[in-house]
Amino acid sequence: MRQAANKKDMIFALAGNPNSGKTTLFNLLTGSSAHVGNWPGVTVDRREGVYRGLRENVDIIDLPGIYSLSPYTPEETVSRRYILDNSPDLVIDIVDSTNLERNLYLTTQILESDIPVVIALNMSDITRKEGNHIDASLLADRFGVPVVEISAIDRDGVKELMDVAYKTALTTRAGWSPLERSPLGESFERVIKLFRGKNVPHPVFHAAKAVEGDILEADATAGIKSEIDEIKNSMRLGDHVAGDFEAAVADIRYNFIAEYCSGALRRAGSSGDTSRSDRIDMILTNKLFGLPIFFLVMFMVFHLTFSESLVFSGYIAEDGIPSPGIMFQGWMELFTDWLSASARGLLDAANAPAWLGGILINGLLNGVGSVLSFLPQILMLFLFLSILEDSGYMARAALLMDRPLRRFGLSGRAFLPMLMGFGCSVPAMMGSRTLATASERRFVIMLMPFFSCGAKLPIWSLFGAAIFPSHADLAVFGMYLIGIAAAVAAAIILRHTIMKDDASFFIMELPAYRMPRPRNLCMHLWEKASAFITRATTIIAGAAVIIWFLSNFDFTLNMVEPNSRDSIVGIAASFALPIFRPLGFAGTPDAWKAIVAIVTGLIAKEMVVSTLGVLYTPEIGADALEDEHAAGALSLALVGSFSHAAALSFMTFNLLSIPCMAAVATARMELRSARHMAETALFWLATAWVGSFVVYRAASIIGI
Ligand code: GDP
Ligand code: MG
Repeated sequence: MRQAANKKDMIFALAGNPNSGKTTLFNLLTGSSAHVGNWPGVTVDRREGVYRGLRENVDIIDLPGIYSLSPYTPEETVSRRYILDNSPDLVIDIVDSTNLERNLYLTTQILESDIPVVIALNMSDITRKEGNHIDASLLADRFGVPVVEISAIDRDGVKELMDVAYKTALTTRAGWSPLERSPLGESFERVIKLFRGKNVPHPVFHAAKAVEGDILEADATAGIKSEIDEIKNSMRLGDHVAGDFEAAVADIRYNFIAEYCSGALRRAGSSGDTSRSDRIDMILTNKLFGLPIFFLVMFMVFHLTFSESLVFSGYIAEDGIPSPGIMFQGWMELFTDWLSASARGLLDAANAPAWLGGILINGLLNGVGSVLSFLPQILMLFLFLSILEDSGYMARAALLMDRPLRRFGLSGRAFLPMLMGFGCSVPAMMGSRTLATASERRFVIMLMPFFSCGAKLPIWSLFGAAIFPSHADLAVFGMYLIGIAAAVAAAIILRHTIMKDDASFFIMELPAYRMPRPRNLCMHLWEKASAFITRATTIIAGAAVIIWFLSNFDFTLNMVEPNSRDSIVGIAASFALPIFRPLGFAGTPDAWKAIVAIVTGLIAKEMVVSTLGVLYTPEIGADALEDEHAAGALSLALVGSFSHAAALSFMTFNLLSIPCMAAVATARMELRSARHMAETALFWLATAWVGSFVVYRAASIIGI
């Protein structure tokens, strides 16, 4: 009898193709809110949680999405190692039932292991809506494992799935392979026998991989390699695959699926949804119009978020109706101003000393408030991006980008981590693990900062509104374009230096267009909002107070004029002035403030705005903050210190330089080399300087 104290939780692993709904199911089972994405590469690390709906707790593992258990991508290796080495009690194979045949290809490989398996036919809500019918019991019969229809998104059938899974996990299973029922069957049995003789676990799996000629099989085949080769030499492959065992085995798997499983799917005439998607795709992924439409769509997103004039009237005359993003931001500003004013009222009433007001209002509230007031716009932008992602459009964008990216030795696959980079460089760099080659990964990591992340948005928004009031949408969109231009330029250079290999193949299945799910969107926004607020109220708040201190005291710790050049940071930054002089924003008496902001921005990009908020807002006094609210005062101060060209140059520097310390740490981890990381950081700083220089000169010449 097992002792209760030693009894470990059961482990169920979720395996399946990318986008089959693993993470959705995982979140549902474990009650966590892992990111659910509509593109491959979102789930790279495996994730663990606990399901408590059964008699005993079950650990659930969300494995990365894969198309096969061959050893070509990191996800495939991770999933394969996990299934074989960790021997979970059960694998739940999640099958996207709208893409049955392709998904079952992976199923045929999972079933070669000896682990108990339950097949979950997910997305049954869609199949049902399309009027299609899948015969689950026929599939169960063919594969010899239970098959349960579910809809992870509607929470349909999930309880039943888990009940069946629990029962199945208590049983044992012997793996089998479609190869056994193929013309190669007899020889294949002999290979299996060799592995059985060695007493390795999962003999059928290893036998199949050995026939495929899998490179990870060296260990398992030790000692029996020559016998296996002998058997393989006697195998007669079809003509079209002469000598290519991998292709032959793939053929056998697909034939098995076509012959035995396709009968399980009964379609209702021509499926309305796919053909509608196809029709939409004729326009949206059109060779000629696809990319221009993509850029137009993106511009509209920025317009709706940042423009002061919703109907473009600002391009003709002053004053228009603001975009929703600007409107919400206005309300947020009113709130932070009210907070400052009330705090000041309280301090005045309590006769608090001046330094306390300085720390609390000029340091803390100005610093944090100037960042927080951009929260509405950030959420707005991410709402639009989530809608585009969830509807299936972003997957099309990746496809459209495949051709242009190929010129630089990247595949459309690389577009996905880049796209994630517009959210945050850190998960995006981790997402680069989905790329097939190490040099592709390094390439993408080096280009990552150029895809302007969410933390940089407050900078664009602040400068856009202050310096380019009637063209804020263009200014912000322009920053994204400058970033992309920098990425292209850097790619050309890198292509001729460190990155000479060609891109790996890019296969991506396009999901059918669908209405974005409100629940999904809310979850994304909540994740973004809570992360942003947490950062703003912790590290950003702490740093703002430190900056206030350093800008109000000198090296002898005497209080100086607020925000004076004689303060500690003022003196330190003045030393750095010559470096920045060619970039155009180091000419004014206040230039040191911009430099302090740039330096703090290397730690976290939100700090650029919070630092400017602390350094530029007027000293606390009777007249301060009375008519001009804080953010307005900051804008006014910036107008006095930055010309158009200088503002663009300052923005560009922040865009291209080291994104933040978290990104540096992640790059170190992903590059697996301190030298490559140091080179990368230097590369970012150098591009920032050169990029700003070019932007400043160009803007001065055109007279922006
Ligand atoms: P993963 O890549 O396997 O982790 O897949 P995700 O969980 O990220 O899901 C991919 C997409 O499919 C998301 O947009 C989900 O909202 C959607 N999805 C997942 N399960 C279902 C389902 O049962 N029905 C429908 N209609 N959509 C689903
Ligand atoms: Mg996932």
